[in-house]
Amino acid sequence: MANELTTAAKAALEKGQPDEARALADRAYRDHPDDPDARELYTALHLAAAIRLSARAREARRADIVRRNIPYETEFEDAPEVVKAFDEADAALDQVLAADPRHEKALTMRASLLFRRDRTKGREPALEILRAVVAANPANRQALYAMKKIENPCKRCSDSGFCPRCRGRGSRRILGMESKCETCHGQGICLVCGVL
Ligand SMILES: [Zn+2]
Ligand SMILES: [Zn+2]
Repeated sequence: MANELTTAAKAALEKGQPDEARALADRAYRDHPDDPDARELYTALHLAAAIRLSARAREARRADIVRRNIPYETEFEDAPEVVKAFDEADAALDQVLAADPRHEKALTMRASLLFRRDRTKGREPALEILRAVVAANPANRQALYAMKKIENPCKRCSDSGFCPRCRGRGSRRILGMESKCETCHGQGICLVCGVL
């Protein structure tokens, strides 16, 4: 029964076992793809995973900048573990969109991820996705907001997406001591444009 599996998945979620919950939701959706509850839970849990993985990708990139001591406004290739983190976030979104191709939150997230990953290559494809979301639902404020953020290159950080104060490191060296950057709350991102 789809019902039993979705109930068990929700119970696992309440117990703080997201992996277990996702595995149960996967089974529910695989066995009952036409059950609306099973599909809704499946997409919600994979979207949550995508959000978590996307945050992890960003954090991996920040740690990589610190480790490699990459100067500000320098073109650089992401390290393999950063690429992998972005790919995993992408794969989670693929799962949501395979089940529900018009899932507005997943589409908006896909646009943000494309942009976050590579602004030069990702800006146009991201805007294309968001324009389609807004065309289908003009009341989607989240997509409109993302569109506004992505449309214009950010002046504050020279459109690098990184915190100009700590140069993406999340921390600053003051009097020989490394301390958390207050401007970006240690995240290393530009808070004007990097919130996506
Ligand atoms: Zn910025
Ligand atoms: Zn900072």
